[in-house]
This record gives sequence, C-alpha cells and structure tokens, in this order.
Amino acid sequence: MSEPFTPQRRISPILLAILLVTLMLSVFSILLGFQAYLGGDAESGSTYTILGATTLALSSYVLFQARKRLVKLALKNQPITTTVLCEKCGLKNLRDFQRGDYVFKEADSCPKCNEKMVISSIYREVKEKKKGETLLR
Ligand SMILES: [Zn+2]
Repeated sequence: MSEPFTPQRRISPILLAILLVTLMLSVFSILLGFQAYLGGDAESGSTYTILGATTLALSSYVLFQARKRLVKLALKNQPITTTVLCEKCGLKNLRDFQRGDYVFKEADSCPKCNEKMVISSIYREVKEKKKGETLLR
C-alpha cells in the first residue's frame, strides 16, 4: 500500500490577481455595453460588449491553461524509489517510496535468509524533459 502524494495545484497569486482584474474589467465592459445599448447607443454598445466578451474569453482561457499545466506538472511528479538492502546476504530490493520511509529504517524480512532488511537509500528518479514547456509571463 502506497499513499499517493496529493498534487499541489497552486496558481501564482500574481497571475491570479491579474486574471481577477481582467475578469472584473471585462464584466464591467459588458455592463457598460448593455448600458449603452439601453441608452440607444448601439455602436458603443456593441464595441463594449465585444471588448468585454473577448477579454472574458481570453482570461478564462489563460486561467484554464494555467490550471491544466499545473495539474499536468503535478501528475508528472517523478516517482520516489526506496532501496531496501539485506545486510546479511546483500539482496537488494527496489520499491516505491512509502510514507514513513527513511534511511536505516528496518523493513520487511529478507525473502532469502529471513533476516530483517534495512532501507539503504531513497531517491527521486529525475527524468529530464524540458522540451515543449512554455512559461506563462
Ligand atoms: Zn538476506
């Protein structure tokens, strides 16, 4: 039984603030457009509405993309491997990291000689892959 890590889904507060302001502006713009429509000014009415709708669509798209990217990054989280070593016969076992694992901790019995095995190392498998990653600015 291994407990999966809860993926962190955090969007940078600055990006969030920018998006919130943009969203507010777009809603405001749409409201202005409706007001202009109601006031009989159809031309500025449609201008404001289109402007607001476009900004709204763009900002929600950016927000959606940022979320998707964060989730993808969290899912791509490299697995952590624990090496369990039998000090008596030298048998080495690799398994997924489990919560509570630490180096020199006693693990299960050795399947070969029934001696208590010890965790000898814990490491994260790093797979370098930076191609195709874009940064939001
Ligand atoms: Zn052994």
